[in-house]
Amino acid sequence: MKEQKFYYFLQKQILLLIVWSLFTGLGYTILCYVFDIAPFTLVWFSAIVLVSAWGWELYRQFSYVSIHKNKLSKWYKQVQLFIYSIFGLWTLLFLLFSDITEHNLNQVTVLIQVIAAIIAATFLFSDKKLFIPVLLILIYPLIVYFVNLNETKGYFLAIFTIGFLGFLLYASNNGYKLIQQIFNQAQRDPLTGLYNRRHLMEHLDQLLKTLKETKRFSFILLLDLDHFKNINDTLGHDVGDKLLCEISNRLSEFCGDSRHISRLGGDEFMITSYVYESYDECIKSADIFSDNIGRILKETYVIDFNHIHISVSIGVKLLDGTALNSIEVIKEADIAMYEVKSSGRDGVVNFNNALTSKIGNTLEMERKLYFALEYNEIELYYQPQVNKDGVTVGCEVLVRWYNPDLGMVSPLEFINLAEKTGIIIELGNYILEESFKTLQSWEKKEQSLEQFSINISVKQLLHESFIKRIEYLSNKYLNHKSQNKIIFEITEKMLVEDMDNIVSVMKKIKKLGIKFSLDDFGTGYSSLNYLREIPIDELKIDRSFVDSLGEKESDEMMLKTIFTLADIFNLRIVAEGIETETQYEILKTYECNLFQGYYFDKPLKKDDFEIKLFKQKVQKVNSEMNRKKIFNRENIG
Ligand code: C2E
Ligand code: CA
Ligand code: CA
Repeated sequence: MKEQKFYYFLQKQILLLIVWSLFTGLGYTILCYVFDIAPFTLVWFSAIVLVSAWGWELYRQFSYVSIHKNKLSKWYKQVQLFIYSIFGLWTLLFLLFSDITEHNLNQVTVLIQVIAAIIAATFLFSDKKLFIPVLLILIYPLIVYFVNLNETKGYFLAIFTIGFLGFLLYASNNGYKLIQQIFNQAQRDPLTGLYNRRHLMEHLDQLLKTLKETKRFSFILLLDLDHFKNINDTLGHDVGDKLLCEISNRLSEFCGDSRHISRLGGDEFMITSYVYESYDECIKSADIFSDNIGRILKETYVIDFNHIHISVSIGVKLLDGTALNSIEVIKEADIAMYEVKSSGRDGVVNFNNALTSKIGNTLEMERKLYFALEYNEIELYYQPQVNKDGVTVGCEVLVRWYNPDLGMVSPLEFINLAEKTGIIIELGNYILEESFKTLQSWEKKEQSLEQFSINISVKQLLHESFIKRIEYLSNKYLNHKSQNKIIFEITEKMLVEDMDNIVSVMKKIKKLGIKFSLDDFGTGYSSLNYLREIPIDELKIDRSFVDSLGEKESDEMMLKTIFTLADIFNLRIVAEGIETETQYEILKTYECNLFQGYYFDKPLKKDDFEIKLFKQKVQKVNSEMNRKKIFNRENIG
């Protein structure tokens, strides 16, 4: 009977018991007064009124004590005493009345005793500890009474009463099991056995109400595991589930019975602490407690012979009487938790009002972007690149983010954000791996392309793990031939950052056979100097030049210069953003190698790109067969 819900249940029964006792007791008293018998009934009824008043006080105390575990158990003991007292008084009345035959009072009292037993069984079945002794208190005197009648009828009734007791115990026990099962299903997370979100909300609302009434303090902790997705991806969901259970065990062990622990879903947990008298005491406790939680969760886990290390990001929200509701406080704990994530994970942040001002649109998007990979919202599209004959020989990988709330978000909007927040590393790694996988699968299907371009951001390129990552992914998915098809596109603008470092990384990557393309060429600080220094293989002429083809003479001059430069430095040229036939025709008159733009195709989903390649292959086979036929006919002719 430890569940909060059962206490609530019990609290309601107090009121029903009081009403029933006062009502029936008053009936007895009036009856005795009218027939002028059993004057002690008035004394007995006064006792019932007193016990009821005590019960009423217990009923009212509940909302205050319910959030304090120690006080709650004291309260429960008093409620037990109250219930024994009230049924004890009924049994006392039975004992006193059972000898009075006037107006068949003895029979009435037997009937009332039976009703009392039924009421006890129905009201108290949620609490085994209570209902069994109470039933015995009520039924045992009845059995003794029947036996003492010394008649066959009496023995028969005694046996019947024992049967009745058995029946009540059986029915209550079944009801108890059923209600426990229903409560468990409604409140518990099936994987870990911790409370679920629904129960947390109820608990929090109750807690906030009490804090308001008593002007006290408490705090909540929102925990989110760092890189949990990696564990699921590399070791499998089975291990992931076991890890979640192990974490729940550690939390339960550490927190004991006195704190409310719940799993909000995925790898998110919440702990609600107990109530403190002073604000300072509460803050101090929150600091120590959250540090300890971080520490115990970081200790090594051994699951199915795997040694797993995991850290956790913790958002803390202090609660007082001013907190609005459970949704609001969880949101604020979430903002604090996210602050930890965005500043490198593995730590604790207390929510404060400065963070509130950050809840703008960007933050909302930032938060959502952070979970985009976890929720599989990132997809890659592939835009064909064609040659002079209109044959697709290459493609550029372009990332897409689809979020249920924000809809389709353009990379122009979120790549910058991802760079600013550092998410680009994880996102970039994901894009690289998915792209490599795609290239590998196309190579297997012999839907081969000559080149395969992937956009790389400067933060990603300069990250310490970049080269290792590329080596690892190349070994995993590519061979020498496919590796040589990869082109990394870097934008001209990023070259201002740290030229020497960038060049050094590029050189190392080029040793693997991967090439580089300079994207958006002409829009940045195009300088002859860096064209000489950086080891690039390709230039991508920016869309703005292609747009104004045939319109602005100065742009055409610029274009001519670019082609001359490319010639001098021996670079291939890709023109992007081609939307019309005229643009395509004009560019063909230059020595342009590849063409990309909506005129040929928009960026395509992987499947659509494959269909395109397949159709192209079929077309090629058909035209070769036709050519052979013509050739044979001519030769025979
Ligand atoms: P970008 O590298 O210059 O990519 C070309 C952009 O022009 C793409 O927009 C593409 O959809 C669009 N485009 C292609 N042909 C045409 C055309 O004929 N007309 C017009 N109006 N637009 C055309 P998208 O996919 O929205 O990408 C925007 C930018 O986001 C990219 O510019 C690139 O800088 C960045 N980006 C996209 N994917 C990635 C990625 O995987 N990693 C990184 N780091 N950046 C990416
Ligand atoms: Ca690009
Ligand atoms: Ca571009």
